[in-house]
Parts: sequence; C-alpha cells; structure tokens
Amino acid sequence: ATETHQQPEVNIGLVGHVDHGKTTLVQALSGSWTDQHSEEMKRGISIRLGYADATFRKCPGVEEPEAFTVDETCPDGSESDVLRTVSFVDAPGHETLMATMLSGAALMDGAVLVVSATEDVPQAQTEEHLMALDIIGVENIVIAQNKIDLVDRDQAVHNYGQIEEFVEGTVAEDAPIVPISAQQEVNMDLLIGAIEEEIPTPDRDESNAARMFAARSFDINRPGTTWEDLNGGVVGGSLVDGTLEVGDELELRPGREVEEEGQTEWRPITTEVRSLQAGGRSVEVARPGGLLGVGTGLDPSLTKGDALAGQVAGDPGTLPPTYESFEMDVELLDRVVGEEGEEIEEISTGEPLMLTVGTATTVGAVTSARSGECEVSLKRPVCAETGDQIAINRRVGARWRLIGIGTLK
Ligand code: GDP
Ligand code: MG
Repeated sequence: ATETHQQPEVNIGLVGHVDHGKTTLVQALSGSWTDQHSEEMKRGISIRLGYADATFRKCPGVEEPEAFTVDETCPDGSESDVLRTVSFVDAPGHETLMATMLSGAALMDGAVLVVSATEDVPQAQTEEHLMALDIIGVENIVIAQNKIDLVDRDQAVHNYGQIEEFVEGTVAEDAPIVPISAQQEVNMDLLIGAIEEEIPTPDRDESNAARMFAARSFDINRPGTTWEDLNGGVVGGSLVDGTLEVGDELELRPGREVEEEGQTEWRPITTEVRSLQAGGRSVEVARPGGLLGVGTGLDPSLTKGDALAGQVAGDPGTLPPTYESFEMDVELLDRVVGEEGEEIEEISTGEPLMLTVGTATTVGAVTSARSGECEVSLKRPVCAETGDQIAINRRVGARWRLIGIGTLK
C-alpha cells in the first residue's frame, strides 16, 4: 500500500467546458482532491492549476477492461497490482482563462477532454480547449463522454455522433470516445484502459539536464516568522526533463530585473535546491511527472505572489536564452474560436498581444508586422528557444481571444 504514494510519471490535462464534470472525474479517479500535498502546496498551487494524483491498478486474473481500477482491493478480496501513478492537471473552467489553460497545456503529456452528453457539441470551451491542445501539440487524447446517466440511449448515441463530427480533422480525430458517468462512477475501468493505451508515459532520459517550468511561486512563511526560522522561497511546477536532487544548484531564467547605474536588465538567478516535494511527500530526487515543489535558498520576497511563475529552471548554464523581444512566424486561426464565425484580421504594427510561451504569459507590443510573421517587444522577457510555440491572443471586446500560433524564430 506504500506504493500508492509513488511519484506520478505522466501529466494528464483535464479539459473541457465548465460544468461538464472535470473536477468530478478527477475526484472519482483519485479519491482525493490534491490533499496529498502539504497545506502550503495546496494553498499555493492547486487553486489555479489543480493537480491531483491517481494510481491506476489492475486486478490479476480479471479480463480487461474490468480489470482496471483505482481501488487497492479487487472484488474477490485480492490486492490489485499498481500500473502507474498519473497526475491530473485540472484546467480552470470558470472564466476560461485561456492563458492559464495554455500554460497548463505546456506541462501536459496527454489530455482527457470531458464532454457532457446533455448538451450540444461543441460548447465554447470544448472548442477552445481542443484548439489549445492542437496548438501546443498535445496529441494523446481520450474523450470522456460524461453524464450518460442523465440521458437516454437515443440522446447518448446522437451526442456521440456530434462528438465524432466535431473532432474530425482535429488532433483528437482518432481519440477514443468513452461514455462515462463520473458522478455514478460508470465505465471508469474502460476510461482507465483507454488512458493506459492512448497516453503512455513519455520516454525520458534521466541523464539530460534538468528542465522545469515554473507555474507558481510563493512564500510559505507565516507573517511574523523570525529570521532564523524563515524558509526559503518555494517554486512550484513540473519537471519536463532530467532529474532534480536536493543539494543541486538551480538557475532560473529570465531571473530578476536589476538596476545598475540607471540601466535595468534581467539577470538569471542561481540558488540551491533545499527540499523537494513530489507525489505528495518529501523526496531526495524528483523525476518528471506531476507537481513538483522546490524549496530553494532564495529570499522568499523573490518568490512571493507568483513572482517567478512562467520562469524556466534547470541546471546552471543549460537553459535557453532570455528574450526581451523576438520575431515569430505567425499562423492565424481562420476565425475567432467560440464567436459566431468572426474573422481574424492580420496583426498590425503597434497593437498589443498577449503571448503564452511555455508557462509564461506576457504582453508584447508589435513593433513590425508582415504577412505571416511579426516582431514583438515584450513587457516581461521570456526564457525560450527557437522553434518554441507561442499562443497569440488579441484583445477582442473585454477579453483576450486566441487568434493564432507563433513559432519563435
Ligand atoms: P467542471 O466544471 O467541469 O469541473 O464540472 P464539475 O465536476 O464541477 O461538475 C459540474 C456539475 O455536474 C456538478 O454538480 C457535478 O456533480 C455534476 N456532474 C459531474 N459529472 C456528472 C455525471 O456523470 N452525472 C451527473 N448526473 N452529474 C454530474
Ligand atoms: Mg472544475
């Protein structure tokens, strides 16, 4: 039973329209809602990008798919075998924070797209989130047709057909569609089987340099903590390559803005890894997969309030460069997602854009625009490399809308 707390090895995004049942599904599969994590982690990270770990198991001697379970005990009383622990990243639904969704997408090895059988397909965020997966290149997808307990057979079949039609020609074209009821825990075995099949743990080379995307950062000290008791700043996010070990040196880019002789510039920060939290417990070595909390030697005022969210961390000297402005190739969408076929105009010089690169979101002003490419000057620099994908958002009315995808030149 100690195996239940093994470190997750793969990140799976939970995406889809608000109220279609993402959080209910995570609860059904994990039995808990991020409560394996310490108070600080819960407060700091799971609110905005909720992570929850689930251990998939298999009952020996039982046929598939019935053999798949999250229970430690099988119907015949025997103990189930652990397949692997996965980490779900529950993208926020309420305000359609596309930027947050896209930052999360950078950490996803695959995704479960939850679609309610009770509504027409697609609803606005179903479409937006699928588009985001397409853009970020998340190709391993399972579709959960949820709430089948609320519809009759004909409605379920009709809705299934709508889903098939909707995903045609998209990255989810070949994704299995699994009818479930997250609330009644119907077909969870089929869903686990589909996830095992479609979303494998990526091959990772542990000898590669460590690379972590920071999604949050915070100060875990209670107000009034005396200097001797002060904990160093904490950075939360996911390791996407290599391993991190307590005692390792860590570089963060872009780092921080320093002012010297009236000039300001961004300088990488170097610190050490003082503690690691992965899979809900303290570890000496962290591997890719799941939520990682890194206790550092940094002054907590540097990490307070997500100050380091969007930064890239890793072995000193191995991180990509910092850009304060860059050129990108641009591919615009055909029309604004979710709006009534509204057309997207070319990007023009001078307009502000909101750009998501990895887990970083920054506003950029277009300094020059041609058809198919543009140059932007960033308000906050990003650590990125040539070929990185950039989600491009334009202000339409009161909100930022996804209008296209850039590739860093
Ligand atoms: P989210 O916004 O996608 O995270 O959706 P939630 O998981 O919060 O679910 C929204 C509502 O739908 C809640 O009241 C759930 O209890 C309900 N719900 C979720 N899944 C099912 C299901 O399979 N059947 C039924 N009847 N209700 C469900
Ligand atoms: Mg939810």
